[in-house]
This record gives sequence, structure tokens and C-alpha cells, in this order.
Amino acid sequence: MILILLGAPGCGKGTISKLFQERLNFCHISTGEIIRKTIALNNEFGEMLRQIITKGELVSDEIVLKLLCEKLNECGSDIILDGFPRTLFQAKKLDEIAKIDKVIYIDTPYDVIKERLAGRRICQNCGKVYNVNLHSMNSCDCGGKLIQREDDLPHVIEERFKIYEEETFPLIEFYSNQDKLIKVKSSSSSNDTFNEILSFLEIKWWLLQKKKWIAWEFQAR
Ligand code: ADP
Ligand code: ZN
Repeated sequence: MILILLGAPGCGKGTISKLFQERLNFCHISTGEIIRKTIALNNEFGEMLRQIITKGELVSDEIVLKLLCEKLNECGSDIILDGFPRTLFQAKKLDEIAKIDKVIYIDTPYDVIKERLAGRRICQNCGKVYNVNLHSMNSCDCGGKLIQREDDLPHVIEERFKIYEEETFPLIEFYSNQDKLIKVKSSSSSNDTFNEILSFLEIKWWLLQKKKWIAWEFQAR
């Protein structure tokens, strides 16, 4: 099953994806994480990427698609895409290379997101997301140091939002037209949001089976 997580910066895509990875053994692909790892290599290409993301801008479709394809090849059949696609162009290209089952849109109020992003820290080592408003810790479960992302500074957040509304928001309609969209409201507990998503996926799966069964029964008559 291939799923896409869609939603504004800070809506919790990363946290929910990690739950899919830990509990259901999905391969988690975060283009943001891939880009940050590339930046950490400290070469010329990484520096070029750093300059783009610290302004809150998007990396070019061409580069992101290349990075995505490299990672896709390492994954099995259950995949959760986090932060990709982010533009209509990327979404159309993705349709050419993979069959997407469902797109989960996490709907989150703007003020909640702004507060979360300001308090967000990530593990330098494994990428796990923490919030200083909720937990007061300096290091990750894995021992890695918690750091603030350069693009989580207030002036960059504004720019990321603007770009989200212009470039990514239209994808909601794109996938809704394909009848793939599942909309969940972000709750304060990521566990609750995760469970809500699961129940949606199961209901859909059940309906699909039922439809198949009805079709089969119809044929058999
Ligand atoms: P968030 O969802 O919190 O905005 P991400 O970790 O997904 O953060 O992405 C961080 C940054 O990496 C983005 O602001 C953007 O510059 C870049 N990036 C990530 N994914 C893409 C993508 N699919 N296309 C273009 N740029 C991307
Ligand atoms: Zn860690």
C-alpha cells in the first residue's frame, strides 16, 4: 500500500509517518529528511540545498524527484510519503511512477501549527520530532542531540506557509478528484490522529472488499 501524507508544515506528518514505520513496518520517505541528510554531508550540492530551504523555498522538482526515486528503490511495497508531492507537477510525475492508494490530509488550524513549529526540535541522529512545549528534554531516546531546524525560525515559517498555500494546497483538490482523499482533523495527541487514520483505512478496505464481493455475487448469478 502506498500512502501520501498531506498537510501544512508542522501539521504532524513526520510524527504520524514514524508511527506507520514503527507499528506497521511502512517504509517512511520524507523528502525533507532526505534533503537535510544531504545537507549534512557538507558538500557543494548540500550547501546549495541549504540556501534554498533556509529561505523557506522549495527545492526544484527535478532534484526532489531524483532524490525520491533513489529512495523508492530501497523500499518494499508498503510506503508512506511525507512531504512529497508538494507541487502539482510532482503529483503528476508520481502518478507515472507509482500507484497511490490513499492520500491522508491532516487539517490543522494555523495558530496551532505556528506554536508547534516554534517549539519543534528534531533529533540530529534519527530525525524523531519533539516539542519543547510538551517534553522538556535535551536528547532523543536514541541518544542523539535535539536541535531546532533552521527553517523553523519565525520569518522562515511565514514564507513556508505562503508557499504551502500556493503550491501544495491545490493537491487536496487533485486527490479529491481522484477519490483518494481522507481528511482527518489534527488532534493534540498524535496517537489519536494515527488511530483515526487507521480506522478510516480499515473502513475503506472493508468497503472495497464488500464491493468486490457484490461484484462477484452479481457475476455468479
Ligand atoms: P515541513 O513539512 O515541516 O515543511 P519538510 O521536512 O517536509 O518540512 O521539508 C523541509 C523543506 O525541504 C521544505 O521547506 C522544502 O524547502 C524542502 N522540501 C521537502 N520536500 C520537498 C518537495 N517535495 N519539493 C520541494 N521541496 C521540498
Ligand atoms: Zn534520535
